[in-house]
Amino acid sequence: MRPLLNRAANNLVKQFSHSLLPSSCSFCQSPLQLSAGALCHNCVAELPRLTTQCQRCAVPLVSDTLCANCQQKPPTYRRCIAAFHYQTPVDNIILRFKSDPYTTEIKQLSAALAERISTTYRLAQQPCPETIIPLPLHWLKMTKRGFNQSHIISNLVADYLRREHHTAIEIRSDICRRIIKGQDQHLLSAKKRLTSINKAFIAQAQNLNGLSVAVVDDVVTTGATANSVAKALLKAGAAQVDIWSIARTSWNNRTV
Ligand SMILES: [Zn+2]
Ligand SMILES: [Zn+2]
Repeated sequence: MRPLLNRAANNLVKQFSHSLLPSSCSFCQSPLQLSAGALCHNCVAELPRLTTQCQRCAVPLVSDTLCANCQQKPPTYRRCIAAFHYQTPVDNIILRFKSDPYTTEIKQLSAALAERISTTYRLAQQPCPETIIPLPLHWLKMTKRGFNQSHIISNLVADYLRREHHTAIEIRSDICRRIIKGQDQHLLSAKKRLTSINKAFIAQAQNLNGLSVAVVDDVVTTGATANSVAKALLKAGAAQVDIWSIARTSWNNRTV
């Protein structure tokens, strides 16, 4: 009787687990077999990966050099690492993810970012920063949205780096705060917007002295936010600040 009951229980667990996992690719609907996420291997392979980019701000370029903006005025962060162009379908996934924290495709996008991060530091012969700071949301936005999408990406990237590359990573969301809301910026003139974003973040100096940190964001649209958060962290004593982002837009206007 007992083996029979055990078998029935196991079947129930199997059925239940199966119902939690997607059975077909969310893009092409082909059956998922060994894929560890919502997309099949073919659809993951066809995502718009960033191949050549500016070595500082990651804006897409035809070769791995420095863009004109970074040559004229280098950003405050050391470098931005992004995995994808902000193009279809990555832009749609990121937009959906801002309102739905259970957007399953984000797991595979974060794994690709983690791989890009690991490769970049290995090739540059630099140690990977071990302190990750999810880009903070203003508290009003956080209350409205209910979650910080950058925190979820940080968790996924950290889990992947710990598991696949044995990197010691700590996520710190207590170091930095956003004190000016992003939406308010649209109401301001370009000049005021730049002044406003420059003062958007404050960071606490405790435990930051000399640390190499990485700020995680979903998409780097301009260098302005990345510059501003890096400036606050450097002022609070960080040795250097890198930006890790799922996607990078192809424009680079720091005043927007
Ligand atoms: Zn597919
Ligand atoms: Zn650049």
